[in-house]
Amino acid sequence: MKVLVIGGGAREHALCRSLSQDPAVTELHCAPGNAGIAQVATVHPVDQLDGAAVAALARLLAADLVVVGPEAPLVAGVADAVRAIGIPVFGPSGPAAQLEGSKAFAKDVMAGANVPTARSYVCTTEAEAAEALDAFGAPYVVKDDGLAAGKGVVVTSDRAEALAHAASCERVVIEEYLDGPEVSLFAITDGTTVLPLQPAQDFKRALDGDEGPNTGGMGAYSPLPWAPEGLVEEVLETVLQPTVDELRRRGTPFSGLLYAGLALTSRGTRVIEFNARFGDPETQVVLARLVTPLAAVLHASATGTLDQLEPLRWDEGAAVTVVIASEGYPADPRTGDPIEGLAEAESADGTAYVLHAGTRADEDGRVLSAGGRVLSVTATGTDLAEARERAYDALALIGLKGGQHRTDIALKAARA
Ligand code: AMP
Repeated sequence: MKVLVIGGGAREHALCRSLSQDPAVTELHCAPGNAGIAQVATVHPVDQLDGAAVAALARLLAADLVVVGPEAPLVAGVADAVRAIGIPVFGPSGPAAQLEGSKAFAKDVMAGANVPTARSYVCTTEAEAAEALDAFGAPYVVKDDGLAAGKGVVVTSDRAEALAHAASCERVVIEEYLDGPEVSLFAITDGTTVLPLQPAQDFKRALDGDEGPNTGGMGAYSPLPWAPEGLVEEVLETVLQPTVDELRRRGTPFSGLLYAGLALTSRGTRVIEFNARFGDPETQVVLARLVTPLAAVLHASATGTLDQLEPLRWDEGAAVTVVIASEGYPADPRTGDPIEGLAEAESADGTAYVLHAGTRADEDGRVLSAGGRVLSVTATGTDLAEARERAYDALALIGLKGGQHRTDIALKAARA
């Protein structure tokens, strides 16, 4: 199978790494990729938001499968452009990707499918926003309706800050605050059959102890030893399958990766948000534990044959990933600094490795930082404590001027 992956973050590096280890994959390509992906795939400087260009590349390569990683190309209809020339694509159509592209659309689908989520109002004026904030009271949750790379959500007890965020967005969703631990549960679907993956938890805030601003994600781990038994089955039954069925009923069938961000509240499991693609950084830990070769799973989603797939096999151990971000991330990331120690951080036995996010190679082959999140240092182990130790040991070998990371990824769960 010849596979083309679209995107250039650590999620795509994780996808490419798994695909490169799959004996069924004879050729692996990525556009645009990054310095790490270039070590396992042939990279192509193609604009990932340009559907025609991506389709042309897929045709040129005679790809058997295109895997679209990030949300922006999906919402822009890149999967549709590839599907239109008859090449199987892993990833939803533009209209179905509105599940992530518009929080208001997602709320509407959830209402139609009877999926439990926070009560909410969609507001377009300041007066409406003020009224909604007062209806729910503090802490306030204010979400930009559109795509914001995981940074469009403000949760605050400061009413003025909540109002200011609302005023800075064209359309906002203001909703009830959900208390309780969060779980990310991914499912692969072909529009009918839904195959849940292993749950993970990510860390959205920039600083230790969940302080600081929201980010794209600073680390993740899997499994969740504290999660209630039967959680995956419950979410499949009450959230994932009804949502997939509802989207099919609406004429916008959803295939690809359905990501449910969940809050386990005292009143039950609630959906915080849906994403239309693999989450970053949770993908790094979920794929680290997936034993089943990846290509056939993604291909079955793309071709509507998931019901014929054998049950997925998982490593019983644990995986932890810790993100190294640039100085100034998320507000104003500094880029262009050399990264040292990358080779040293890779363990000989493959239990610790470095996935690249915002990196590029210069003319001399040196790897430089090129984005907010720079690396995702990933490790596996028999349990979370071991995986965590390996990830932080590897991370300690890496040098990036001004680089920042959290020191408490999976800490509580590993102790439990
Ligand atoms: P989202 O982009 O919707 O996942 O939101 C980013 C983060 O904001 C989530 O991971 C939560 O930590 C927080 N958040 C979003 N919605 C709520 C809510 N209704 N109640 C509490 N926290 C929330």
